Amino acid sequence: MKNMRKRIIRRPKPQIFLRKKYCRFCREKNRSIDYKDLKTLERLISERGRILPTKITGTCSKHQRNVAVAVKRARFLALLPYVRY
Ligand SMILES: [Zn+2]
Repeated sequence: MKNMRKRIIRRPKPQIFLRKKYCRFCREKNRSIDYKDLKTLERLISERGRILPTKITGTCSKHQRNVAVAVKRARFLALLPYVRY
């Protein structure tokens, strides 16, 4: 019976607006992650001051670890906030 056939309704896939990104530190090989480089670190933390996950920034795990250390150092030196309200 043709009509009894279960129809598979395909829902459109949820659109993900995140482009596939490449680790910016891998792309520029000589670029080091420095706790004094606030311009770079600012882009890797959220507006609340939290470190953005790899999923969003596209940083590879190796560099993400370095970023985390750099951000934490910068926080300790009060260059970056722990929390922003
Ligand atoms: Zn990398």
